[in-house]
Amino acid sequence: MAFLVALGMAATVGALNGVSALGAWIAKPPAVATVVEEASPPPTELETPEPPPPAFVFDAPLPGRTIDSPFGLRQLPWEENGRLHQGVDIAAPAGAPVKASADGVVKRTGVSPTYGRFVEVMHKGGMTTLYAHLKAPARGVKQGAYVRRGATVAFVGNSGRSTGSHLHFEIRKGDKPLNPAFFMGRSFAEADDLPIRAAGRVSKKVRLAVVSKWPDGVKGAPVTRTKSGRVRTRIAVSEG
Ligand SMILES: [Zn+2]
Repeated sequence: MAFLVALGMAATVGALNGVSALGAWIAKPPAVATVVEEASPPPTELETPEPPPPAFVFDAPLPGRTIDSPFGLRQLPWEENGRLHQGVDIAAPAGAPVKASADGVVKRTGVSPTYGRFVEVMHKGGMTTLYAHLKAPARGVKQGAYVRRGATVAFVGNSGRSTGSHLHFEIRKGDKPLNPAFFMGRSFAEADDLPIRAAGRVSKKVRLAVVSKWPDGVKGAPVTRTKSGRVRTRIAVSEG
């Protein structure tokens, strides 16, 4: 093809200027090379195939809102010892829609004295997410219901042992609580990429929680910090 084009051009030029013009034409290899490239079929079969979609994708349940209280050992001012805060707290006004962090099936919904109203969702790989202190689950969110990532599963509230309107969000693998900060807004190509070990580690540091509202029956008490860093407080619990 390229050869024919070059010959045709040379014949035209040759009619005007003779053999020296043909020599000049042949001495321009870049022009010929360009014609050859254009004549080649597009190399579609050489393109890199699309990578498969990641097996695990986790979104933040309240997009755009920040974690106020992280995963880890935490001591509430009215308690004598620290306890593991098994999830993260994300402050939001009551009624704000809570989104499913990942595709899954509702494992259960219910009410507990500590969690208040909650929704628990099962995901593949033995992972579960828990949304607590809710105002209410969303319509149709009940055991066995399929939920897509990003779908509204509930609304933020202040139920259970809560210190103000917020979402308590947990991620577990089996029974093991994991730090949700390792998952929110991240995707993982396959199950082996899930940061189970890193997210399951608990720092020995105990954080004294700052609370905006004391639960009923617990009177505010002076909190003192000893030299060792431990926190002491005396609490008075009213009857009833
Ligand atoms: Zn919490």
